[in-house]
Amino acid sequence: MSFYSRDRLLGSFALALRLCVAVVAGTACGDDAAVPGPDAGTADAPAVTCATGDTVYTPSGTHWDYMHPDEWAMKSPKYAMCNGMTQTPVDITTATTTTETMPLTFNNYSTVPLRLVNNGHTLQVNVTSAFGSSDASITHNGTTYYLVQFHLHTVSEHTINGASFPMELHFVHATDATPTARYLVVGVMYNVGAENPSMQNILTQNPGDLCYRQRPASSVALDSLFPTNRSFYHYSPGSLTTPPCSEGLNWFVLSTPALVSAAQVTQLAGIVHGHNNRPIHPLNGRVISRYTAP
Ligand SMILES: [Zn+2]
Repeated sequence: MSFYSRDRLLGSFALALRLCVAVVAGTACGDDAAVPGPDAGTADAPAVTCATGDTVYTPSGTHWDYMHPDEWAMKSPKYAMCNGMTQTPVDITTATTTTETMPLTFNNYSTVPLRLVNNGHTLQVNVTSAFGSSDASITHNGTTYYLVQFHLHTVSEHTINGASFPMELHFVHATDATPTARYLVVGVMYNVGAENPSMQNILTQNPGDLCYRQRPASSVALDSLFPTNRSFYHYSPGSLTTPPCSEGLNWFVLSTPALVSAAQVTQLAGIVHGHNNRPIHPLNGRVISRYTAP
């Protein structure tokens, strides 16, 4: 079975999974855990030279950008889901949230080796997971999801009561490395305040457009990227916020922002050449619940 016919059979969500499996093998996982398959669209990719020790990231799939997010679904049949009914991000209207009683339990959320990719859309830390008890993971409602990558957006993609934040970080988790894996994403919002040292470690090591930088001897501290309070908003299903916009994801947004400095926001905006947030999408009947940490 060819790569392409297999894509059609499995659909874009399974495609997202297969690319995340590549993370386990130590290669790239695309934007929000997925990039489309190697069809057209690389012809306009610029020639890339990466710094000594870094390697070139070759984009695959049809080109898309943040200037015309309303056109993503028309760019490729593989992006059709971008016009789906359960898309992310959404506005969180706090007055209409319901109550959730099950917390997020963070397991082994300490440090991960520095493995960066600048894929031209975001700066991302890839995490090599064995999907085992010693790997960073989150348990919710009896299911454990393992951290496979996290990446940055400016400004935030989600909004709360119509207000955006200067930055949002997405921690992407998968249950396993099979085509039927389920995904859980945790969004952390940032307000401007003190410089965040862990964020600075990531920003400083930016390898530049379309390059990988792997410095596994260095590490990224996960804890300082989070607020102390782990209360959250939750909705499901949601989607990848980049093409192919695969749906079925379990989405959480922490209700307490963490802090980054104004200079760090400016630095990220420079890295992504402006902004890399997708506009909000309608809930279409989805309900957002709220868990309040004790
Ligand atoms: Zn994202």
